[in-house]
Amino acid sequence: MDGRPLEGGTLVIQDGRIISVWEHPRGDAIDLGDVAVIPGLVNPHTHLEFSALTEPLSPGLPFTKWLQRVIQYRRDHADIVPEAIQRGLRESLAGGTTLIGDIATTGWSPGDYQLAEGHGPRVVVFQELLGLSPEGIEPLSQLAREHLQDDAAGPIVRRMLSPHAPYSVHPEVLESALQLTAQHRGRTMAFHLAETAAERELLQEGTGEFRAFLEAVGVWQPGVFGGRSYSEILEALGDLPRGLVIHGNDLRDQELLRLAQFPHLTMVFCPRTHAAFGHPPHPWLTMLALGGSVAIGTDSRASNPDLSLWNELQFAAARFPDVPHHTLLKLGTLNGATALGLRSECGSLTPGKRADLAVVELRDPAFIDPNFDLFAPGNRIIGTMIGGQWAIDPRDR
Ligand SMILES: [Zn+2]
Repeated sequence: MDGRPLEGGTLVIQDGRIISVWEHPRGDAIDLGDVAVIPGLVNPHTHLEFSALTEPLSPGLPFTKWLQRVIQYRRDHADIVPEAIQRGLRESLAGGTTLIGDIATTGWSPGDYQLAEGHGPRVVVFQELLGLSPEGIEPLSQLAREHLQDDAAGPIVRRMLSPHAPYSVHPEVLESALQLTAQHRGRTMAFHLAETAAERELLQEGTGEFRAFLEAVGVWQPGVFGGRSYSEILEALGDLPRGLVIHGNDLRDQELLRLAQFPHLTMVFCPRTHAAFGHPPHPWLTMLALGGSVAIGTDSRASNPDLSLWNELQFAAARFPDVPHHTLLKLGTLNGATALGLRSECGSLTPGKRADLAVVELRDPAFIDPNFDLFAPGNRIIGTMIGGQWAIDPRDR
């Protein structure tokens, strides 16, 4: 992230931080063999509560069918949230992830993020806010205030908010979350936006697939939808100190242009989830071309077969062969860290930053061009270091 890849370089780590980066091998260093050492991967968007799922909840269109399955699953599995979080942390670690942005709904407690066997990824916990009813506005605002008041501790490095999406939160709940986030310096907020074309129709017209869905699950609110637009929501998000626009699948050119003008807003692209739903092509490359910020996330096991950000990046590399791998690596590390407000701490192998890193075994020892071979099929994560400690020691393989 800071310069060209170094062949035979050495990282000097002390007290959990990178002290210096040497361009050459050093005699006193641990030789990890034919591997690539990369910054720990940052997954800015997942929902660990679904990590006990063994396969996705049949993503596909219509999108609201899948949403109904998610609601049912959440109801049926409320008691296994702590176990699911633990599973998700382990799986993330195996995929080289050292920092996660997790959306937490109900049934969780801070201790769930402490991996039972020891060292796990650090987590930014976004309390999800869900509800369209006017009676729910005050209780949700209260939940939001309480979540932000509690101190971050242990693996939880920040506590933030995620009003779920325009179709699932009352505009006043969104407004309250925006205000609370803005009052806390350095905070960021996550918001699902523009996932399908039907979401736009609901906002603008108050009709369509989403209206039928909201009526079917008994939460339709007259007067909430119609006459609203993504442009107005983007302007409101633009006032945040920092923010994550999750998905943005259906944003159009003018909206993308506006989003790109907010350098503190990051669009989070979830490649395998996007593909699983069969959405039209995602505008992430347009966002990058416009100078906007993009990060890559896994989303949850409700729509993705696993939580490995490494697998996500390999998938993106195969699907978009013209994108240099150093660009993908940046989207999977530094840009995620930036979106989570932790750029000065992690996301690159820079002296002074935390020693969060991942070790990649290279299938082809004649590995020539890191810019196009890093995410080649067969390369895999064999080690993960968090704050100078091996969570997965590559020498144990
Ligand atoms: Zn999501």
